[in-house]
Amino acid sequence: MILTGEQHWVCPNCDLQERTQNQGNRFHPCPGLAGLLAPMVLDGVRCRVRAVVREDYVNGEDVRFDGEGRPVMAVTVERDGGQDCAVFAPAARVRRG
Ligand SMILES: [Zn+2]
Repeated sequence: MILTGEQHWVCPNCDLQERTQNQGNRFHPCPGLAGLLAPMVLDGVRCRVRAVVREDYVNGEDVRFDGEGRPVMAVTVERDGGQDCAVFAPAARVRRG
């Protein structure tokens, strides 16, 4: 047996697949999540990748919107053994006066 270090990445929300060698997690603008930057997962891993829509008032904060105009807080990967989360933290704006 020869170990190559090749990994096969898939996205559960679109058709994208990639093969890599010795690289970390893969992110892509996912058409299945309205264009949000989402992680790919290793082929064969049972999980759900989903966007977490912001439920509180935006009130002028600089937040991330998906392609359908909804404010999104994060993209999560939910597996049987745990959860990973990529957070889109809001930013404040300052005006000089
Ligand atoms: Zn995708």
